[in-house]
This record gives sequence, structure tokens and C-alpha cells, in this order.
Amino acid sequence: MFGDVVLGIDHDAFEHEIVQLKQRAGVKFDCELDASHLRELVAAYKGVYRRHNLALPQDPWEQLRMGIDAVFRSWNIPRAVKYREINKITGLKGTAVNVQAMVYGNYNSGNGASGTGVLFTRNPATGENKLYGEFLMDAQGEDVVAGIRTPLPIADMSAIMPEIYKELHDTVKGLETHMKDMQDTEFTVQDGRLFMLQTRNGKRTGVAALRVATEMEREGLVTADEAVLMVEPRHLDQLLHPMFVNEKAYAKDVFAKGLAASPGAAVGKIVFTAEAAEAAAKAGEHVILCRTETSPEDVGGMHAAEGILTSRGGMTSHAAVVARGWGKPCVCGCEDLAIDEKRQIITVSSTGKEFKAGAYISINGTTGEVVKGAQPVAKPSSESGDLSKFMKWVDARRRLKVLTNADTPEDARVALSNGAQGIGLCRTEHMFFATAQRIAAVRRMIAAVELHSPAADEALAELQKYQQTDFEGLFRAMDGKPVTIRLLDPPLHEFLPQADDVTACGACGSALGRLCDQLAPELGVEPGVVQSKLEALRETNPMLGLRGCRLGVLYPEITRMQVRAIIEAAANVTREGCRVHPHIMVPLVALEDELTHQAKLIRETAAEVVESLGAPVEFKVGTMIEIPRGALRAGDLAKTAEFFSFGTNDLTQTTMGISRDDAQAKFLGYYIKHGILASDPFETLDTVGVGELVRIAVERGRATRPGIELGICGEHGGDPASVAFFNDVGLDYVSCSPLRVPIARLAAAQAAL
Ligand code: PEP
Ligand code: MG
Repeated sequence: MFGDVVLGIDHDAFEHEIVQLKQRAGVKFDCELDASHLRELVAAYKGVYRRHNLALPQDPWEQLRMGIDAVFRSWNIPRAVKYREINKITGLKGTAVNVQAMVYGNYNSGNGASGTGVLFTRNPATGENKLYGEFLMDAQGEDVVAGIRTPLPIADMSAIMPEIYKELHDTVKGLETHMKDMQDTEFTVQDGRLFMLQTRNGKRTGVAALRVATEMEREGLVTADEAVLMVEPRHLDQLLHPMFVNEKAYAKDVFAKGLAASPGAAVGKIVFTAEAAEAAAKAGEHVILCRTETSPEDVGGMHAAEGILTSRGGMTSHAAVVARGWGKPCVCGCEDLAIDEKRQIITVSSTGKEFKAGAYISINGTTGEVVKGAQPVAKPSSESGDLSKFMKWVDARRRLKVLTNADTPEDARVALSNGAQGIGLCRTEHMFFATAQRIAAVRRMIAAVELHSPAADEALAELQKYQQTDFEGLFRAMDGKPVTIRLLDPPLHEFLPQADDVTACGACGSALGRLCDQLAPELGVEPGVVQSKLEALRETNPMLGLRGCRLGVLYPEITRMQVRAIIEAAANVTREGCRVHPHIMVPLVALEDELTHQAKLIRETAAEVVESLGAPVEFKVGTMIEIPRGALRAGDLAKTAEFFSFGTNDLTQTTMGISRDDAQAKFLGYYIKHGILASDPFETLDTVGVGELVRIAVERGRATRPGIELGICGEHGGDPASVAFFNDVGLDYVSCSPLRVPIARLAAAQAAL
């Protein structure tokens, strides 16, 4: 071990010598070698050193110093670097070194009084309260894991060394009681005497975490508070999503790694288009939709697919947000993959491997791995008695409310069953994309509004009908709980056919051209006129362009249509006997006048609807805080806004000047790998930078309007570390995708403890 670990001589060089010696001696195991064999082995090992121009230092202090240096160096070996990367361990300077005397599990081999083993105080896979581990007679620590001899199950030790076994049992149970958690221990028995080498809290699966926490509470080992702190949010994630049966088993088949954008395991055949995904799903096939990036037009196919894989886009890209919303596994920003939708082929850039349409792949949205073939998947565990009991403890301890981001009654129902206390964000544009018919209506509306055509009213009325039906569904599903509806946010050209179709004219058959050919007669103009109007909507920098409340200011008729739909839906559902609490939210506000303009429009329109229906509807008007200027001037905005919801996706994008769509592939990945950033700021809030703006807006908003309701609806609402910050900064609620609601509840409880 000294030659290998300290001096870097290949372990095989030593192994070769001992294997040869055992053959010569006619024995199978190391412990069968006698003293003269060992003398021979020492000479052979010295030869190995010599052949490497090295020598084993004879001064023990020199050996010790070199050993200590080797441990310090181990901090930077690739395996350790990778481990820290996977477990997001950042900001540490190095490891500590512990020097202690050795004991020997191979002492007096053959007399049945020495051995070594590893032991968990409970089963780390199931949580069962029974010692779990293995041991090896006449062996040293490394031998147990080296697989040279098969270790025995720990229970067998009770027959071989009954007294030592009892002492071991009592000792590890004592450690568990003292540490108040399941222990992962190593021990050695030297000539009939037990030594504990190390103990630490054991790593465990989600199922085990829940069982250990609830059983330890029942046994009186921990309080309910302590039990709540014992289950990690990622454990709940595991309980709620299907997982691969054995992630280690497929290691050799992993051919790419991207961002773990939406957790869970998905297996299916490769398809490249949303249409192919939908057709395959109809035929009962399981598919993975593979795209360079997704757009709102792909939602049908995304929904039909088992999972989504993209080569571009970060944690808040369209694919990631939509997939998380549905709890569908997604790996995005997989930059090593060239996904060629036209040629229907995926090429792994680093290895040149190719995967064609129809080939089976598996994606792991929890780790970001993309794997060849159909890997076996285990179903999520259903909500057991333990889980519901545990979640009751959780809810009793949190201060933060947990709402959900939901765009459909179906999403809302899933979120409610996961414990959501309302809707914190309904992105109305997602409703526009629900069917081809709706997209057609939106496109007709955009063209008509742009051309100031009388057909605009008709197109808006059609959209209002769709929106109203959707809002009624949401209000009914959330009966009495707040429903926050955001007015239209994305730039209008996002609703038009894709960018690469723009240049060609109608006669050339581009998608935009065909759309213009179709709309022109309805609007009473030439196709070229429609086309030039629609092309003019394109912007160089659309994320900073005509979107958010700017749309409502320039196209007040869109705001009016949406408000009419909200208020009429609220009145209808109230009449059915449901309680309805709409919160109308204005997006992307930077200027006080933008908000007052929209709030006035909202209140006037609502008053008109209420008067015409003769039924009162109570509602609130608020704003998103997602532009730094909006956060800094929160004191002004609170004069008008009855609530704030922090849009931390855009607030991160605009504060850091980092594109939320494609920065991951360009440089964010590099930054994280090299420690320039500790984590992806679109996943875990940059609390000292972006968070500072949140803090300022909270203070200034409350100074103007003390009772103002404050929440957050960016993707960070489902991230445990960020939830802890939102708790500390004094927000009233977080809002996250439906399947993350339990995780946010747990994170909120842990933050409060
Ligand atoms: C945000 O910006 O954080 C937000 C919730 O809005 P969207 O992601 O729709 O831009
Ligand atoms: Mg936003």
C-alpha cells in the first residue's frame, strides 16, 4: 500500500509478485503464506521498488511524513474531484489528516481470533432496523473491499465469535444512540479484542431515510424535529420519481452527461420531432424526445414522451421548466451531443458514436446521465403511512407557505395532492400553446392587431373564450386557494413559426409564408404585407425586448382580453359555489409608470365586467420583481402592487447578465467545473448578489406597504438551499413546479428549525 498510495507504483506490480508466490507455494489465500514465504515476498517487493528506482524509506518518521503528504495530495486526485463535483461540495481548501496507531485484523492468522469488517447499524437500502454488513476473518481493511475472498454476512459472526459479536452489536448501537443517526462503521478484531476504526452517519436511499427517521422517532432516539432534519430533500425526490434499479450497473453504457434538469428515470426509443413523439405514444410506444432545444411548439411531443433530452439550454431553459412542471425526466444542455433533427441522428462529438431514430436510450434526470439501451426502472414508492406522518411533522414546522407553478387544472390537481397551498404562477402563454387550434388563434390575433384590422376583436374574443375556460378549471381545482395569473409575458414573435423558416416568402413555402398566405384573405391584405409586419416583430435581443408588461402597454387590448377572461371566469365559478381568489400579476416591471398603466387598465376592465355581470369579484393586483430596477424601486411599485412575486429566473439573468437559455453550454459549465461559480445560479440562487436585490425589494416594499404579500415563483422556489434563503429573508411563500412541492415543504421546515 505504501508503494502504491505514497510512491505511485502501480499496485499490479506488487500483486503480480504475491500471485506468483501463492502459485509456487500452492496456496489460495494470502493468510495461508507462512513466515518463510513472507520473507521471500519482502525481497520480491523490494525488487519492485528497485525496478522503479525507489526504495522504501527505513526511518518510520519519514514513512509517516510521506504518508501524511499522500493523504493531503489525495484531495486533488480525479476521483476525489469528481466526487466533490457530483455532491456539490465546494468552497473547501483541502482535507485534514488523522494519525493513529494501527491494529491488525490478520494478527496470528489461523487462530480464529482476528478479522475485520464494515457494518451499518440499519439497512441503508431499506432502513430496516437490523445490522447490515460483512466481515472477513484473518484480513486487513482493504481485503474486505478488494474482493479477493468473499466476506461473510455480519450475522455469521455471532456463531464464529459470539462474545465479540455481542460487544460489536452493543458498541454500534451505542454509537447510533450517541450520534442520533444510522451509523456506517468499520471495525477490526485483533487477537480477540474489538477495535472500532471509524464511524459516520451512513448514506442511504430515500426509502431508508424515511424509515430510519420515523422509526428512530418511534423508538425515542430522536425528536420529531430531529427526524425532520434527518431526511434530505433529495431523498423525497427519490421517493416521488421512478429511478433506475441500479445506477452502477449501467456505468459502462453512459455515453453523455448533461444537466440533471428534471429528476427521474426514463427509457424509450429516440425520436427527433414532437409529431413523431405524439404518433409513437398513440401507438403505445415509449420514446425519448431528443432536440437541440425545445420550443413551445414541441409541448405536445414533450408531453407524449417518457423523457426529454436536449443538447442546448440550461436549468431554466424551456425544456427544463416544462419537464419539471410535469415531473417528466429531462436531461438538458448535453453539449457533447450533436442532435441532428434533419438527418435523424445523434452524434457523440467526443467519441464519434452515433445513435439513430428508433434506438433505445435511457436518461437519468437525477444525475444527467444519458445511457445506451433500455435500462431497468423501478416504480416510485406510493405514499405510505410513514410518508404522510412525516409530512405532517414537516408542515407543522414551516413558516413559509408552498404554492405551485401550474398552467392547467391537471397540474393544479397534482400540486394539490402534493400539498400545494395555491397557485403562485400561471404562465398564461402556456395555455395559448395547448392545441394547434389555439396557436392558430394566437397567430391570427397577432397579425390582426399588428395590422389594426377589425378582425382583431374577433381573434381576441376567441382567445378570451379559451382562456376563460382554462381559468375556470384552475379556480375550480383550487377552490378557495389563491390563484396567481400572470399576464402575457413572452415576445409575440415566439408564437410565430420557427426562425429558420422566416427568410423564404410564401411562394417558396416557408412556414411563415404559408401562415401569411392563409391569414391575408381573412385580413383583406396581400400576403407580403402580413409577412413584413410579422417579420418586423423579430428582435436581436428578444429577452430584453418587447415582452412582459411592455406588451400590455403597447397592446392594451391583450391585457383587457386577459382581465375579462379572469374576472368572468371568477364570477362564473363563484356562482357555482366555489370561493375564488384571483391575483393578477404584471410581469417584467422596471418602471413605476408601467405598473400604474397596467393596474389602471386591469381595475377599469374588471370594474366594467363586474358591472355588466352584476356579480362582485374580489381580486388583487401585483407585480413580478424580475428586473434589477424593479427591485431597487420596490418602494415605488408597492404603492400600486398588493403583492410581489420574485421572478428569480429573469432576475438572475438580468442581474448577472447571463443568458438563461444558452449560457450553460457556452461558459457556465466551465465556470462551475473550475470553481469560478460554486453552482449554477439558475438552479441555486446567488444569495449574495441576486439575493441582495431580493432583500432590498423586501425591505423597500414593506416600508411602503407593511402588509404586502411577498413570494417567489422562479425555478429557485423548488431548490432547498434557495428556499432556506427565502425563509431567512422573510418571504411569505415559495412557488414551485407541482412535483417539487413536497421538497419545498421539507426545505421550508428544515430552514425554520
Ligand atoms: C422568472 O423569471 O423567474 C419567472 C418565473 O418567469 P419566467 O420563467 O416565465 O420568465
Ligand atoms: Mg420571468
